[in-house]
Amino acid sequence: MNAAAVDPVDPLDELAALFDGEGSAEYLGEAVTQAGHMLQAGALAEAAGAPAALIAAALLHDVGHFQGTVTGRDLMEGHQDNRHSHTGADWLGQWFGPEVTEPVRLHVAAKRYLCAAEPGYFALLSEASVHTLRVQGGPMTAEQARAFEALPGAADAIAVRRWDERAKDPELATPGFAHFRPLLASLLIRS
Ligand code: FE
Repeated sequence: MNAAAVDPVDPLDELAALFDGEGSAEYLGEAVTQAGHMLQAGALAEAAGAPAALIAAALLHDVGHFQGTVTGRDLMEGHQDNRHSHTGADWLGQWFGPEVTEPVRLHVAAKRYLCAAEPGYFALLSEASVHTLRVQGGPMTAEQARAFEALPGAADAIAVRRWDERAKDPELATPGFAHFRPLLASLLIRS
């Protein structure tokens, strides 16, 4: 009997496969792999004492890079925004609630916001992130920044963004995906 043919796919198995497979590829010219970057972001959120949903958002914030035919490399080389934040949030929405998906959705907007709202933030961006900022629309205008601040998920998205920026350290040791499985399991929507 083949149990795999009967059981629906476990979302955590599917996520684990992404981290171990496509995720081990280069990340937009950064010094860490895509999976390493996301694991670091999750670990930074955990070390900061963030609530479980926010740790999950940090861990999963770039899964949109794995979805669809436009990859991160296309984004870098083709000068087009692949809207990975929205793709990722929509895809995660089949398993997780808005407290996980919305910071993912807004993490690119949060970069545009922080570059407008905080003097010196732009200088923290990696070279690749400066490039993508340009194709993502550049820093927000003052009016856009005010509108962003008013969104219910803005503060969480800004927190994820700050970990995102710091999670590109090739020297930093991080736990593997398995470390986060119980936390993710506790957040799954049971239908
Ligand atoms: Fe990221």
